Amino acid sequence: MPLAPTGPSHLERLFPTLTSAQIARIAARGRRRTIARGEVLVEAGDADVPFFVVVSGEVQALRPSGATETLIVSHGPGQFSGEAIMITGRRAMGRLRASEAGEVIELGRDQLLALVQTDAELSEILMRAFMLRRQELIAHEFGDVVVIGSAHCAGTLRAKEFLTRNGHPFHYIDLDHDAEAQSVLDQFHVNAADVPVLICGADVVLRNPSNAQIAECLGFNDAIDRTRVSDLVIVGAGPAGLAAAVYGASEGLNVLVLESGSPGGQAGSSSRIENYLGFPTGISGVDLTGRAYAQAQKFGAQIMIAKGATQLACGRQPYDMQIDDGSRVRARAVIIATGAEYRRPALANLSQFEGAGVYYTAMPMEAQLCKGEDVIVVGGGNSAGQAAVFLAESAKRVQMLVRGERLADTMSRYLVRRIEDNPAIVLKARTQIVALEGNGHLERVRWRDDRAGDVETNDIRHVFMMTGAVPNTAWLERCVVLDDKGFIKTGPDLSQDDLAAARWPLPRPPYLLETSRPGVFAVGDVRAGNVKRCASAVGEGSIAVAFVHQVLQS
Ligand SMILES: Cc1cc2nc3c(=O)[nH]c(=O)nc-3n(C[C@H](O)[C@H](O)[C@H](O)COP(=O)(O)OP(=O)(O)OC[C@H]3O[C@@H](n4cnc5c(N)ncnc54)[C@H](O)[C@@H]3O)c2cc1C
Repeated sequence: MPLAPTGPSHLERLFPTLTSAQIARIAARGRRRTIARGEVLVEAGDADVPFFVVVSGEVQALRPSGATETLIVSHGPGQFSGEAIMITGRRAMGRLRASEAGEVIELGRDQLLALVQTDAELSEILMRAFMLRRQELIAHEFGDVVVIGSAHCAGTLRAKEFLTRNGHPFHYIDLDHDAEAQSVLDQFHVNAADVPVLICGADVVLRNPSNAQIAECLGFNDAIDRTRVSDLVIVGAGPAGLAAAVYGASEGLNVLVLESGSPGGQAGSSSRIENYLGFPTGISGVDLTGRAYAQAQKFGAQIMIAKGATQLACGRQPYDMQIDDGSRVRARAVIIATGAEYRRPALANLSQFEGAGVYYTAMPMEAQLCKGEDVIVVGGGNSAGQAAVFLAESAKRVQMLVRGERLADTMSRYLVRRIEDNPAIVLKARTQIVALEGNGHLERVRWRDDRAGDVETNDIRHVFMMTGAVPNTAWLERCVVLDDKGFIKTGPDLSQDDLAAARWPLPRPPYLLETSRPGVFAVGDVRAGNVKRCASAVGEGSIAVAFVHQVLQS
């Protein structure tokens, strides 16, 4: 007998119909109420969006645009409203209106979170539907943001990447190719010199906004309470910080995460992670960390986006942390998970080409920019290898420039093999870039073969820099003991001299992963001696939470 698909179809997962037993369990946590035909239940831009299960009648999700609106979907009896914002607590992107009179069950966000934290069956159905619906909104560009930009502008790439990595749908208008571009510019009284222009909601126009301004306009951090003293503040929402948030929040701690950029950290910029346990076919960094982000929020962790920690007042307890907008948050324990960044090579005009020919991540957005062209990947580590393999799918040719003699010394074997077997990838050992040239956008690259000493000039417009990492610890101003490269020393790596110099105040030695300050832990790539892998970052994030409990109980 031929194999036939079983289980719910994609459409049924997106818009499931709940059983009467499931509806009864939801009703026990919420309130039943009638709805009148035409009643608006949620308006675009609303905060504190409730969740509705339709008992009778019909509600429609609509996308308003001026005086008109587009139907996204209709929910009938047994179906429910909502998408990712139900978990993140962000503002509504569309309108929800009763198209037929009837009855609904209404739950506030806290009631919904309590439901998904305790009812495994409903958690699976609701969380899956919310995440799939968000994916559909992204794929159809059904959102509350329009970005007008150009492929020649570094700010455009940054703004698009910020929205993408935050899983926020947007419609992109390319100034260089889209016929509608000029009329939209005229309508909002902006001109091409202002790009990227971001139209946020119905009428707010941002000219070349920073990531923090985008987050502000879209209300990414609106639902977050900064006034309370958290049990645990986690700095950094890469894999290590997100793992700590999932474990901490699911074990009952009240957790606040500060993230200076977008959730996902370095892993979020990986095109495909193939060695993370449980994903035999690999998973993109954005998918992996996007799931972790939703998971942490499902358990109640609060995650502030585009808000970096700028100082830890380490002499005081509870610990007091300054944020880059000037505000402060307080915590009884701290986990530092600020990771590392690629080293920027010492090239005279590097910053002039960043985002305009020089990139530090290789994701579909960058691959699109260099489709059919020659590209260079600099670096001999796994991330450089992944980037080369990924870019080779769409670029004409990838030249890998490495300082060493062989890749095998620095890269996993599976990647070395793929590179060797790929005719589109050319390895240039003992070679380094000596100059970048161009006018506005990178046009030419000069590199030197260290064996022969020859310098070559090549017309190449795209360079991916994926060289050694620098820890993000400057903001700590040496409040915790660092090693000679700036990584944070923890646990048994702290010598008696280190502890004496830091005035360690307790009779016990620091716990594993604890820094030279009691109750301040460091995990992941930022920690001295850490193995720079997703799995180790996640492992350390979860282990540190076990010690946080001990600190909080003492
Ligand atoms: C392109 C690429 C591909 C990779 N592929 C793999 C792979 O296939 N397999 C694998 O195991 N590993 C891979 N790695 C390595 C892996 O991604 C890292 O080891 C892992 O991301 C480290 O996690 P982390 O949470 O410690 O730090 P990071 O991922 O670096 O996250 C740190 C976070 O902290 C934030 N931050 C920094 N400073 C502050 C501040 N002051 N305040 C608030 N937030 C701050 C940053 O914005 C960032 O989001 C790859 C790395 C890259 C770059």
